[in-house]
Amino acid sequence: MSQQSSGAAGGRGLRIAHLYPELLNLYGDSGNMLVLKSRLEWRGLGCQIVEVGIDDRPSFSDVDIVFIGGGTDREQKIVCQKLLAEREELHSFVEDGGVLAAVCGGYQLLGDYYLLGDEKVQGLSLVDLYTDRGEPRLIGNVAVQSRISPQPIVGYENHGGRTHLGSDVEPMGKVLYGHGNDGTTGEEGCLYKNVVGTYVHGPLLPKNPGVADYLLSRALERKYGNGELEPLDDRAELAANKIMYDRMMAGKVPER
Ligand code: GLN
Repeated sequence: MSQQSSGAAGGRGLRIAHLYPELLNLYGDSGNMLVLKSRLEWRGLGCQIVEVGIDDRPSFSDVDIVFIGGGTDREQKIVCQKLLAEREELHSFVEDGGVLAAVCGGYQLLGDYYLLGDEKVQGLSLVDLYTDRGEPRLIGNVAVQSRISPQPIVGYENHGGRTHLGSDVEPMGKVLYGHGNDGTTGEEGCLYKNVVGTYVHGPLLPKNPGVADYLLSRALERKYGNGELEPLDDRAELAANKIMYDRMMAGKVPER
């Protein structure tokens, strides 16, 4: 396990566990860590990022946010075997209101299983969902309307998996452009307690500061009983978000 820390006046801050960055880091998913860290530091809050390697046995008892990125099917299979050993700890973390953000391959692992042809890759069963495969791969830019972000969430998706939510699981939002969970329901991602699962790479957080602040605010609320966040100057982030969104809406990016 390797750690990076930055201190904070008054000692307030968050500890973030980044699971298996050497295997699960598609389309810059690890960049999400920089966003969480920067947005804490810009507010004078501390941040400790713990990179959890595949042979580490982490404890989640002092962790505030867990992040799992996306990966290829091959990498997912490797990770999943290891991750199942942490299932009970992760389950308690989630049920206790711990913040968990998972992208694409990581999102699929939150569910009961990922069906790859005849092979069933066992999931963590943290959220009532499952994933099977479909053709073609769902690839392209994506925009999602969600209650966790004041702006549409924009990014990029590339998955063969089709994720199906249990009837009590709320989607992260409605697909405005692109494919989402399975290309047919118009739903994208999942929300369960303080878990956010999504197919949105990009990475997710740089152009979607609302999502970053949602995660930080939920974690601060759980830890300190107050999730209020000082506003930041997000002009650059919001301009990047708007350019992508406008291009999608104007049909200037090819939808595949
Ligand atoms: N391997 C998974 C799929 O193809 C997830 C891919 C990803 O993380 N982008 O569905």
